[in-house]
Amino acid sequence: MGNAAAARSAVVGSILDERHRQGRLKAEGRFLHTPADPEMSDTAFLAVLMEEVGEVARAINDGEGTARLRDELVQVAAVCVARLELLARS
Ligand SMILES: [Mg+2]
Repeated sequence: MGNAAAARSAVVGSILDERHRQGRLKAEGRFLHTPADPEMSDTAFLAVLMEEVGEVARAINDGEGTARLRDELVQVAAVCVARLELLARS
């Protein structure tokens, strides 16, 4: 596997790990719904997504470092994956 393919696999794996973490937090009662749940309205999903995008912006603007930027980008991607799961089921 080339470097680019290996990097892509690692990134996708990180996004899936984050997606699983969301499910775990929901199971622990940390929040009622994930973006994959139809109970979360589109506007509530948008608020979640924009919060995560805002954290990406803060990581960049405040120079929080590559690791932090990476984590926040993975969270943005994972909430998008969750919403896409809902759309795929409907
Ligand atoms: Mg975040």
